Amino acid sequence: MARMYYDEDANLDLFKDKTVAIIGYGSQGHAHALNLKDSGVNVIVGLYAGSKSKPKAEAAGLTVKNVDDAARTADVIMILLPDEVQKQVYTNEIAPHLTQGKALAFAHGFNIHFGQIVPPETVDVFMVAPKGPGHLVRRTYEQGQGVPCLFAIYQDASGQARDRAMAYARGIGGTRAGILETSFREETETDLFGEQAVLCGGLSALIKTGFETLIEAGYQPELAYFECLHEVKLIVDLIVEGGLEKMRDSISNTAEYGDYTRGNRVVNEQTRAEMRQILKEIQSGQFAREFVLENQAGKPGFTAMRRQEAAHPIEEVGKDVRAHFSWLKQK
Ligand code: NAD
Ligand code: MG
Repeated sequence: MARMYYDEDANLDLFKDKTVAIIGYGSQGHAHALNLKDSGVNVIVGLYAGSKSKPKAEAAGLTVKNVDDAARTADVIMILLPDEVQKQVYTNEIAPHLTQGKALAFAHGFNIHFGQIVPPETVDVFMVAPKGPGHLVRRTYEQGQGVPCLFAIYQDASGQARDRAMAYARGIGGTRAGILETSFREETETDLFGEQAVLCGGLSALIKTGFETLIEAGYQPELAYFECLHEVKLIVDLIVEGGLEKMRDSISNTAEYGDYTRGNRVVNEQTRAEMRQILKEIQSGQFAREFVLENQAGKPGFTAMRRQEAAHPIEEVGKDVRAHFSWLKQK
């Protein structure tokens, strides 16, 4: 098993006389900024003029500057903007302040790996990518735990890039749970593959197709919703706790037999071939090019797909069902 690193492997003293700028105060941004501050690191938040996050960050006791000032002041600059806006903000407001010895950091490798951002050779470039959404990065930290992180070095100009990455991971609580070393390439390609084929794309399509099949055959939408969407969580919780084995131990023998004999017909050799193709499109840069161009064009396809997906019958049924079952509202 690959080596995990913990608190004792990381030295937060490296940031003692340093300032860390967190650019963006969204899902990841608020969590990194608050955790670093609580870890005793000197943090500033960089936001665009008129950002709605400004009062929130200030109310939480953080110093807020515009992106340009934050990048000028800081020694370590962590970019936590949406991936598709990073290049523009980097070029206009961050790059001019990347003097020798500073460090540029990311929570996902997309812009570096696909050459959208090309930092000067005189700065460190590292990644600390929490394997969980921002609210968990914050909540687990407050509870004395942390979210496991991946870390990677793209460029080591100071000779300290790796130590700095590990110190950063400690500051946000990552080394409490354990951090694992990777490369920008590996993190980017596996992250994109996971979200496209399994977690977001694959799972949404599986849920919708199951729901549609039951509706088409005349069953009640509420039942189809429970069977194909709601119960996913119950099953996934068991799998995460104890692997497929634990899930199979707690379902009925009927369900277990159905699992073994029918699952591979749903996700079959054709699905496997398609997954390989999706991975190739990620590795070749085809997906990245499509996403970058889509954003440059003003997101016409993205916007249309969002509208279409929001109108899917499963969303209507879901709203009704969730409103009627009060126990579903408690999370
Ligand atoms: P987000 O969308 O939650 O937050 C982005 C922040 O940037 C917001 O505060 C927003 O107001 C600000 N912003 C948006 N457009 C801007 C612009 N043009 N100029 C300046 N600021 C702007 O983003 P996120 O989900 O926290 O993602 C940040 C990074 O973290 C990405 O690289 C992402 O891949 C990575 N990441 C996210 C998660 C996650 O679970 N959300 C997990 C791991 C890594
Ligand atoms: Mg991802």
